[in-house]
Amino acid sequence: MENNNLKLPLSSFFDGMFNINDGIPHFKMLIDGKWKEAIGGLQFDVHTPINGSVIAKAPMAQKIDVNSAVTAAQENRGIRELPGIERIDIFNCAAGLMELHKDEFARVLQIEAGKSIKDAQGEVEATVQRLKLTMAEAKRISGDYMPGDWSHDAAGKMALVIREPIGIVAVISPFNYPLFIASTKIIPALLAGNSVVVKPSSFNPISALLFVRVLEASGMPEGCLNIVTGKGEEVGDALVKHERVGMINFTGSTPTGKAIAQMAGMKKLHLELGGKGYALVLDDADLDLAAEKCVFGSFKFSGQRCDAISAVLAVESIADDLCDKIVREADRWKFGDPRDESVMVGPVINQAAAMRIHGMVTDAIEKGARLLLGGRFQGSYYEPTVLDHVPISSVISQEETFGPVVAILRPKDEDEALRIARQSKYGLESCVFSRDFYRIWRIAKRLECGEVTVNDYPSHGVGYFPFGGIKDSGIGREGIGYSIDEMTNLKTVVFNLEAGGLGKREQAVSACKTVASKNQKAGTEKTEKRSEEE
Ligand code: NAP
Repeated sequence: MENNNLKLPLSSFFDGMFNINDGIPHFKMLIDGKWKEAIGGLQFDVHTPINGSVIAKAPMAQKIDVNSAVTAAQENRGIRELPGIERIDIFNCAAGLMELHKDEFARVLQIEAGKSIKDAQGEVEATVQRLKLTMAEAKRISGDYMPGDWSHDAAGKMALVIREPIGIVAVISPFNYPLFIASTKIIPALLAGNSVVVKPSSFNPISALLFVRVLEASGMPEGCLNIVTGKGEEVGDALVKHERVGMINFTGSTPTGKAIAQMAGMKKLHLELGGKGYALVLDDADLDLAAEKCVFGSFKFSGQRCDAISAVLAVESIADDLCDKIVREADRWKFGDPRDESVMVGPVINQAAAMRIHGMVTDAIEKGARLLLGGRFQGSYYEPTVLDHVPISSVISQEETFGPVVAILRPKDEDEALRIARQSKYGLESCVFSRDFYRIWRIAKRLECGEVTVNDYPSHGVGYFPFGGIKDSGIGREGIGYSIDEMTNLKTVVFNLEAGGLGKREQAVSACKTVASKNQKAGTEKTEKRSEEE
């Protein structure tokens, strides 16, 4: 296909946030309510995974730009002063604007991330849904009334436990869902009254920039929402270390998450990190369903999902049958340029990613795995691949694949499958296929991860159900309402009610003493009477 349909479709709504030079947009960053270049005009190229060509330039922010963005966020707390219902109005307006520009967003996502148009449209729709669900999300911004009567220490007092914004939330997002993941952090952070500085992935920062424009145009108070682009080690580090930033909300790889945790000091952390999603297929499973879901869970968006199925644990007695069905199903997935609407598996993010995946596939084959499908790549295009008899010693059986590979291991039974899944250093999600409620429940209870899906592949959708990891998969929970919990601090306000004549402490204590002494007296009299009778 031609290069000319790799031009970013940007209507006049987005004017002002870029200049066109050499036929491509050179984007700016929103800092303190103005679209600006980086200090010194430094920029970096944004490539499309579709053919590697440069589709745009983005500012290469420096530490001084990060300082400006954080200062703007510090000084502009307009969002906090708006009544909650007016914040909801902003998000409703943004949902309308997104819907108006949904085709542009979907095409931009397709070009900058190499998504099929269906996947790209799904991501835009999920973002619109997330904007529309803010009223449900806002219900969590409430608190508790606690009478103190139930403790001698607190009697005569009462407390209100309220949720308050943290202050400045730094949002650092990954390449795989560059629009939706950024939005799932930005929306609840602002809804809760925080100001925000966003740092999107350098591979594909454009849809996050456009999303910020949508919120700006929807009436977001100036300076509350800022976005800086540039290299993770520079811009990301500067944000993470900045003393005025109160919270880091990060989604990305486990090594980066660990580095952030070390740099962040006492800041609040929400870390959504890598995963190794196991699919446990038991001997009583519906194998047609399991094969279909395992392939979908492994291949959707070329496997570049934290919740992808990245190893199938097929118990020995059904492994041959399941394997045949998986190969037949995998063969249906058309591979190629995602601009062809019949294509289901497009490129991975770049050639380096394809080479990393190939290293894992080759390692498994060298250690005894059988290659049943695919196994080759060209540029950023990695063929949909199926490996059987994958040994537990191979890298792919334990590390996140992030590529379109179904890796089948053959544990001898349910217990061995469980053992393999439990020994993973990751703990994001897994799934189980069976028809027996008690076996499913036993496995769900014993798997060490944040979410277990039954008879389907794991999928976060719009975040209606909470998700997040344990072990090396992160800290905190994402989801409608749960994100609000993460992005607020609890504050306890204690009222001494004595001055209002409601201080019951002395009365309560003395009433208690009177009753106790009456009981004691009655007890003594009873004992004395009994001993007289005896
Ligand atoms: P990544 O390489 O860790 O990058 C994520 C973000 O962190 C990017 O914006 C990156 O900026 C920035 N960054 C890099 N180094 C940094 C540093 N030293 N300090 C601060 N920020 C830094 O991850 P990715 O490859 O984009 O995303 C894929 C990973 O995300 C996978 O492991 C996947 O499982 C995980 N993920 C997890 C979830 C979940 O919900 N648990 C969801 C989606 C993805 P640059 O791009 O400029 O380097």
